[in-house]
Amino acid sequence: MKPSLDVLSLTRRLLAFDTVNPPGQERACAQFLGKLLEDGGFETDFFEFGGGRTNLVARITGVGDSPPICFTGHIDTIPLGAIPWTKDPLKGEIEGDRLYGRGASDMKGGVAAMVIAGLRVAELSKSRAGMTLVITAGEETGCEGAYFLAAHENALGKAGAIVVGEPTANSPIVAHKGALWIEARAIGTAAHGSMPEKGDNAIYKAAQAVTKLQNFDFEIDSHELLGSPTINVGTIKGGVNINSVPDQAVIGIDIRTIPAQNNKRVYDELKRYLGHEFELDRLVDVGGVASDPQHEWIEEVFGIMESYLKEHPPVCGVSYFTDASVLTPALGSPPTIILGPGEPVMAHKTDEFCYISKIEEASAAYLEIARKWCGL
Ligand SMILES: [Zn+2]
Repeated sequence: MKPSLDVLSLTRRLLAFDTVNPPGQERACAQFLGKLLEDGGFETDFFEFGGGRTNLVARITGVGDSPPICFTGHIDTIPLGAIPWTKDPLKGEIEGDRLYGRGASDMKGGVAAMVIAGLRVAELSKSRAGMTLVITAGEETGCEGAYFLAAHENALGKAGAIVVGEPTANSPIVAHKGALWIEARAIGTAAHGSMPEKGDNAIYKAAQAVTKLQNFDFEIDSHELLGSPTINVGTIKGGVNINSVPDQAVIGIDIRTIPAQNNKRVYDELKRYLGHEFELDRLVDVGGVASDPQHEWIEEVFGIMESYLKEHPPVCGVSYFTDASVLTPALGSPPTIILGPGEPVMAHKTDEFCYISKIEEASAAYLEIARKWCGL
């Protein structure tokens, strides 16, 4: 590793790759990281699920039978949004402790922190357990890259513990919800707008369904950290022109599930609830994740983070989902922690930034977590 490469420089290098998704185009960024890790002693494999959509799996193997610790992060970012930025989203502009750029918080700062920690682990003598870095593409559009890896035999192997570097301001999170995004299409019959009795209005059906959905009951006890599942109608599209009876209307439904729920069953219930006049399309379907806060390794990580946060972190869960929905079961369902330097409130925002001090702390904390796991 070049001595000049610190975690801030690496984050800025990553910000310079335009990986806005769609279209993603993560290949150049994944290859850059792959080369860096290979030079540092990692074995690397690239897995592409479409033109330029590249996942990277990098590993150093340990000795003995202990499973590796896995650190994971995504390198795609969401679009810049409609409001113009006052900072260049690709340049990595610095102002005091703030590093600006699309993906600074979500989550190129986190990826840089785990790569630098990984390179340090590789420099140390042969470890008891190994370390795997799973750098994914296509997370923002529903864990596409993670799904591809999970479906690919031998791409991931197993892990004994997982750290997901999504933005948590370095506070460890032990649970998150799953998601089920559905488009429900109401089908009607078109007619001239002056003769509505000749048609069957799909917008009226959709409107009734939207009202009905407000009362949808999941009939499940709330999770102690995640609360109850939720449902939200996020979009409604229908009709072509004002003087026609619309024959189609589509509503977009965002359901956030808790780990005790089975998404397939929720889908079936929703289908029954909406009735036969709707056709359903599943856009995103990922399960929730929850680890036992009393697990030895989880407690160890909380102990490590206490020294950075200056207080014992509270045990909590979050409502968004991460690649862990896919990767945790694929890696053998080990304990999983969401822990990254980004500011949760900055994710997906105009003029996104991350505190440089948090990125440096995350890198040091990741190294400590990995060293403890690997027995170094
Ligand atoms: Zn993210």
